[in-house]
Amino acid sequence: MNKSRVLFLVFIFSFTFAFSQEEVIYEEHSHVKTRCGFNHTNKDITKKSLEEFSTEVKKYTARKKSLKISDEGILILPVVVHVIHNGDAVGQNENITEARVQSQITVLNQDYRRMFDTNGFNTNPVGADVEIQFQLVTTDPNGNPTNGIDRVNYGLEDFKTFSEIDKMKEATIWDPNNYINIWTVNVTDTQTEEFHGYLGIAQFPVMSDLGGIENENNPAETDGVLIDWKAFGSSDLAGGEYYVSYDKGRTTTHEMGHFLGLLHVFQGEFCGGSGDYCDDTPVQSTSSNSCLLAKDSCPSLPGVDMVENYMDYTYDSCMNVFTQDQKDRIWTVLDVSPRRKSLKNTNAFDQIIPEEDITIEFHDSNSNTEQVVIYIKNVNDARVTIYSIYGELVYDKKIVPLRTTIDTSYFDSGIYIINVEAGKNTKILKFIR
Ligand SMILES: [Zn+2]
Repeated sequence: MNKSRVLFLVFIFSFTFAFSQEEVIYEEHSHVKTRCGFNHTNKDITKKSLEEFSTEVKKYTARKKSLKISDEGILILPVVVHVIHNGDAVGQNENITEARVQSQITVLNQDYRRMFDTNGFNTNPVGADVEIQFQLVTTDPNGNPTNGIDRVNYGLEDFKTFSEIDKMKEATIWDPNNYINIWTVNVTDTQTEEFHGYLGIAQFPVMSDLGGIENENNPAETDGVLIDWKAFGSSDLAGGEYYVSYDKGRTTTHEMGHFLGLLHVFQGEFCGGSGDYCDDTPVQSTSSNSCLLAKDSCPSLPGVDMVENYMDYTYDSCMNVFTQDQKDRIWTVLDVSPRRKSLKNTNAFDQIIPEEDITIEFHDSNSNTEQVVIYIKNVNDARVTIYSIYGELVYDKKIVPLRTTIDTSYFDSGIYIINVEAGKNTKILKFIR
């Protein structure tokens, strides 16, 4: 596609989507890429619902501040990275190395923690340590150990449509209540009217506890963040092929911002409207595509454009700011949004066993339990306790996998409660002796 055709499409899109400014930001050889697909993937979210969402978030944050409810220190969020490839060996093309995945996690933590002596540090007066960190999970949805990287040979060379992407996500997603799903894929270089070669795409949080964004626009089956593999990870920390200027891992920092409820700093209607609903990011009418620190797209309004904000479109090397209001917005979303707040209580760092892997059998004689037999699978720290109906502990023992038999024939007559705790599961039953 030639440049004038691309610019024509940009022109069309800027009128098609009420609050979007699409920019083709990268053209080199055959690559034509668009920084972020947020406004396309979330185009069904109306301006009105976005406003309601943001107004509710602001109200909640103000209420929280007035009640002096503190946030709970540093929060660790669970991440699984699905590396989607089409049969390449590990380390070849889009089947990226573990070191490259780790480099991306490192960048996320440097950026969200505003870590001193890293690219994520800033001295901006409104710059904030968001106080959240990201970690690859240790337990997969079946309770088995994992390194947090899920490699999938999906058999597709590149992704060219949203429906291809959604189908792949639905086939590979891990429970979005427990995991932040990140997919790395090969996004097509070809731009069409329906689909650009995005560097990253994120799904916005739902707000069913408050007004605003409707659930059907953000289904659970596709929730997460998708990144073109050449924009994933940092060339400072891991080798491999990267896009020039988008090689420091900031595409993922930006898309994770959307996933946690942030909007573009240039959202809104040019210099009017509510912008990104954060008071400490100056109103900005257009996205920034280079590192021009003195850019001021709304000269009649206070402040120059905050081009170093992660939620703008600048080069990776120019970004280093999340603001205090952006942090408050993220923490509010983590308090109220259904598939975000559950991440705080994830079991993705523990080995879990499914409930059906605990079986309790009662071997009776004349309706009296003479023997209890417990079967458990695949867990090393299980415990059984038995209480009388009056709360008296009569049996307490650690048990090992497979079969455990407890002789209850010597128990006094009465009603008993048995608890079997295995991994994160507890099974409680009553029996009569
Ligand atoms: Zn974006």
